[in-house]
Amino acid sequence: MYDSDTIAAISTAHGTAGIGIVRMSGDKAFEIAQRIFKGKKSFDEIKSHTINYGKIVDPETGETLDEVLISKMKAPNTFTRENVVEINCHGGLVVLKKILELVIREGARLAEPGEFTKRAFLNGRIDLSQAEAVIDLINSKTSESSRAAVDQLEGKLSAKLKEARNMLIELIAHIEVTVDYPEHDIEEITGRKVYEEAKKVREKLVGIIRGFERGRIIREGINAAIVGRPNVGKSSLLNQLAGKNKAIVTDVPGTTRDIIEEYINIKGVPVRMIDTAGIRETQDLVEKIGVQRTEEAIKSADLVIMMIDAAEGLKEEDIDILNRIRDKKRIIILNKIDLVESDVTFPELDGEKVVEMSVKEDIGIDRLEDEIMGLFMSGDIQTNDEVLVTNVRHKNLIDKAIKSIDEACSSYESGMPLDLITIDIRNAAEYLGQITGESVGEDVMKEIFSRFCLGK
Ligand code: GDP
Repeated sequence: MYDSDTIAAISTAHGTAGIGIVRMSGDKAFEIAQRIFKGKKSFDEIKSHTINYGKIVDPETGETLDEVLISKMKAPNTFTRENVVEINCHGGLVVLKKILELVIREGARLAEPGEFTKRAFLNGRIDLSQAEAVIDLINSKTSESSRAAVDQLEGKLSAKLKEARNMLIELIAHIEVTVDYPEHDIEEITGRKVYEEAKKVREKLVGIIRGFERGRIIREGINAAIVGRPNVGKSSLLNQLAGKNKAIVTDVPGTTRDIIEEYINIKGVPVRMIDTAGIRETQDLVEKIGVQRTEEAIKSADLVIMMIDAAEGLKEEDIDILNRIRDKKRIIILNKIDLVESDVTFPELDGEKVVEMSVKEDIGIDRLEDEIMGLFMSGDIQTNDEVLVTNVRHKNLIDKAIKSIDEACSSYESGMPLDLITIDIRNAAEYLGQITGESVGEDVMKEIFSRFCLGK
């Protein structure tokens, strides 16, 4: 299925560091190591799954390239299920490159991006969605997103999908047996049964999809829009949040300061803050564009943070904005409480999540962060073993599977024959199989076969 040639790469970040690692995987990894490693014991004599001190020496010139620790890991208990050698050398890029060049000269090939993980998949150590989780884990920017990736790597998503897919495969097997071999005394399942089971699978899939929204949020961050009248303190708040939390990315280039976005890490949640400030100009056209942009920002926001000037009170414009965000997750901020003497309450805000704040005096900002974090995480991320779909590819395939199941169900409802219904159910199983990288054809065959053996 793929070349079992030996691949090699620098596996640590490119840059100066204390140590760096050159990794090899494949049949020839050990013999290459044997030729270039000089230690107390020769590489051949080293036990598997140990780390050993020695030198890397160019066998042609006799030049010592570095002092290293070498790890030897014999297949199959390795990441790729192949023989793996890791050379821990000093972290300078020159040393790393020299060692990499040497192992390539000795017979390894430069690995393609992700090729070690791909081999882990092709050799059956992990499935496709787990392989994708490895990439997520490497790219995750916050502890929450890395936890979600680890869950996926551990196979939680795969397990749920497999369960759903197995139910479908069983249905297909039942139908095929019924359709193709009517003479066998295997209990004929009625269309009704297929229909009911398919509905159950659908429910499961919808449950998994629900995790997607939060999965996406964890990977890409919450889209939060800060809205409010001019001068209520939106930019001040954003600056404060960004300064405090060290923005990951600052102003998007090319914006004319009327929409600014920042990525901020709020208590482990990456938040993309959109400030819709700067709608100060009174010229009609500018005003119009501003309003339009605010509307767009609200539409695409997962969370709307609306700011009100506590000292000025609720104006008509505020009520107008409030009405626009009624169906959004929202937090209302009463800002500038340093300017008001006593507590302010507004009956219009009854039942809203209100945070009193003074950006100027750093009151309430911490509370806002807790609310943001709480809104998306509390009772959600921690809840037992909820599965997170973090990948658009997965979501699309699950969506397609649901659609196919719906088609199967409506075919049943309109009285279509069983073998026509199978087509859609088979498609649904196929889509789910594409997530974990299994092929449907063989499984169905196996399932049918095992059923015959059972009966005979
Ligand atoms: P924006 O138009 O909503 O972005 O508002 P700005 O952030 O530009 O703030 C408008 C003005 O209000 C500025 O002069 C800020 O210094 C001031 N401001 C912001 N927050 C507070 C606050 O909590 N208390 C007081 N007294 N002034 C504030």
